[in-house]
Amino acid sequence: LFIGLQVDYNKCILCGECIASCTFNAIKINNNKLTVNDNCTLCGICVNTCKYDALSIQKDEINEIDKSKWKGILVYVEHNNGKIHPITYELIGKALKLAKLLSYKVYCLFIGFQITESSKELSHYMVDKVFVYEDEAFKYFREDVYCNAFENCIKELMPAIVLIGGTEVGKSIASSVATRFHSGLTADCTELMIKENSDLVQIRPAFSENVMAQILTTNHRPQFATVRYKVMDEAKKLEVVRDNIINCSLDEKLLVSNIEVIKEETREYKESISEANVLVVAGQGFKTKEDLSKC
Ligand code: SF4
Ligand code: SF4
Repeated sequence: LFIGLQVDYNKCILCGECIASCTFNAIKINNNKLTVNDNCTLCGICVNTCKYDALSIQKDEINEIDKSKWKGILVYVEHNNGKIHPITYELIGKALKLAKLLSYKVYCLFIGFQITESSKELSHYMVDKVFVYEDEAFKYFREDVYCNAFENCIKELMPAIVLIGGTEVGKSIASSVATRFHSGLTADCTELMIKENSDLVQIRPAFSENVMAQILTTNHRPQFATVRYKVMDEAKKLEVVRDNIINCSLDEKLLVSNIEVIKEETREYKESISEANVLVVAGQGFKTKEDLSKC
């Protein structure tokens, strides 16, 4: 989308009145030509000031997307060596509540190596389908191949919303995948709501946590959000086991990573995860201190 202040040089007589009216010091005359710099906030004051109709704010035509083609909520399953991070159950819990308004289905995406057994754990939740991408290429969290699987799943499923844990791994993959779809991503949401037109209201603290911002992705799909750990209620685990596992595969060439794992190291997660005493294995996900003591 292009939006900007346009000057009609055929009409401009360089009277300078717009320069005086602009409190942002955004208009200059260079080489007998009016120019507008990055200070412009598009407030429109100069447009109204110009008596010669030489200024206008231009917007490109926006092609409205067909939101009805994008349905459902996809939750990314974070794990370490198949052990599912508890934030996943919080995301499922929130997704199930959001899904009710639009009768959406909730799906999970589980990418990893030797995760067949642990994927069955997700059959105890009210998730319509669990898409499992299992391959040795996913043994370590190598972002390029993980993103290939993520992209493949989204293209097949076309979910309206994608929820990802606000962990280091989650934030990393969320931004990469959102970029592939040229869509919006709101990081570190603390609350989520949904509108009837399927726009996700992504709520998070802003301006040094002084205000709660409500952020919308109004004309792109899917809508990506990472969610802080321990701010949402976990989904209820069911006694029954649902038949919801779908094994997926990727083209061989999409399993080839350009990232070489040269060593594994541990370091502490920062921010909210530190409350959970969680450590990260670089390139893999998370491990608790208890887990590491057993390694
Ligand atoms: S006020 Fe209008 S005519 Fe005067 S310098 Fe600005 S654009 Fe040009
Ligand atoms: S639109 Fe507002 S900020 Fe931009 S040049 Fe005009 S007066 Fe200045």
